[in-house]
Amino acid sequence: MTDDTYEKILDISRRRGIAYPSFEIYGGLSGFIDYGPVGSRIKQNVENLIRKFYVIDEGFLEVQCPTLSPEQVWIASGHVQNFKDFMTECQKCGEPYRADHLVEQAKGLRTEGMGISELQETIAKENITCPKCKGRLDSVYNYNLMFPTHVGPGKGKVTAYLRPETSQTTYLSFRRLWEFARKKLPFGVLQIGRSFRNEISPRQMMIRLREFNQAEIQVFVDPGQKETPRFSELAGMKVRINTKDGIVETTLGGLVGEKTIKVQMIAYYLGKSLKLFEAMGIKPERLQLRQHEENERAFYSSDTWDVEYVSPSIGRIELVGIADRSDYDLSAHMKLSKQDMSVNIEGRKFVPHVVEIAYGIDRPIYCLLESCLSEEADRTIFKFTKEVAPYTAGIFPLTQKDGIPEKARAIFTMLRDAGFYTFYDESGSIGKKYARADEIGVPYCITVDYDTLKDDTVTVRERDGKSQKRVKTNELVEELVK
Ligand SMILES: [Zn+2]
Repeated sequence: MTDDTYEKILDISRRRGIAYPSFEIYGGLSGFIDYGPVGSRIKQNVENLIRKFYVIDEGFLEVQCPTLSPEQVWIASGHVQNFKDFMTECQKCGEPYRADHLVEQAKGLRTEGMGISELQETIAKENITCPKCKGRLDSVYNYNLMFPTHVGPGKGKVTAYLRPETSQTTYLSFRRLWEFARKKLPFGVLQIGRSFRNEISPRQMMIRLREFNQAEIQVFVDPGQKETPRFSELAGMKVRINTKDGIVETTLGGLVGEKTIKVQMIAYYLGKSLKLFEAMGIKPERLQLRQHEENERAFYSSDTWDVEYVSPSIGRIELVGIADRSDYDLSAHMKLSKQDMSVNIEGRKFVPHVVEIAYGIDRPIYCLLESCLSEEADRTIFKFTKEVAPYTAGIFPLTQKDGIPEKARAIFTMLRDAGFYTFYDESGSIGKKYARADEIGVPYCITVDYDTLKDDTVTVRERDGKSQKRVKTNELVEELVK
């Protein structure tokens, strides 16, 4: 693997319909991508794997809420006041910067807790200038990362925001979900959907987008019961921790035992996430855990952890954050909406706590592309797992004559009717067709030739080993299921 893996993936993605920049004909807009025909299939498969792990395996509920919500939601959550960066711009070249990052990078100073005036003073005192052109920097100002808009016309219009995360919208209907969960704790709620952040510097397609996809799970728990009986399934799991002193190898059970992970449920979902990423085809040896330090953790959270992927071409990528959010969100909405969010269990009245598991969708897709990319002497292939592969099979006629395309079409229809995602490709030589299929990670290629007309068998070629065998057409469905 070389450092240009990222560029290679970008190139294949654009050529083969995985993902490409949006609005290309108008020159593009930074921070937005389209998933093409192949990428949409992969994305859907990734989302379905998450459902398999949580909705099926854990029995969690799933909801879908609007991406646009009225201002009150984001006042209660703290986003209107706090979801902002301190910005400054170069007066000469116009380059925008995060003021705190500039101060940290230029002078190695810590900036936590610094406000606008302190950052402003530090920039002046330390004589910090534009790293690009040494120009003078403009005044520091607040930049909220939410996209504001209005709902409805005229005087009655309502101020609203595109949601910067899905989780808050899940909390709003807590009363209904609580009823639906038969008034028992714990219960989990998954929401898969789009969120929006007006990032200052979106970069690296799929890594930092302005419109992105999330799968966030809120597990509502009794404050005194943040354990799960299923932890024993994963306690022995070996993990690597990214610490200040380097990588430490241990087990999940060990981390809970020594109280490095303070909440057993967090350890359980970290282990489950590692398994999920592996099922997506992400290389497990590139995954590690990282605990948030006190100064980067929200004040209400007792503990927060990430699973990180170490990319050989673009460095560390955060794939999921798992946090004990206490009763912060439900209490905040209770206070502003004046609606009761507390529950009553055997005479105990309390506001449930939340353990949140927040997955990105776009980043794991990049990481699985990088993990599955394999370059051999004569071909480039994506070795996708069967759960993630965009198509199960490609169907190719050997030639364009003698009734072979008709036969191939009939087999294509048969597999489609059996519910397989398949595609039909009749252009170019068989070698070219194989190469195209390999580049989008199709596990099986089915070729219809002259023998098919005689004995009703086809050649099934397997992607990774390139092995070929003849299979009776009436046994094809069974063979592909296997
Ligand atoms: Zn400049």
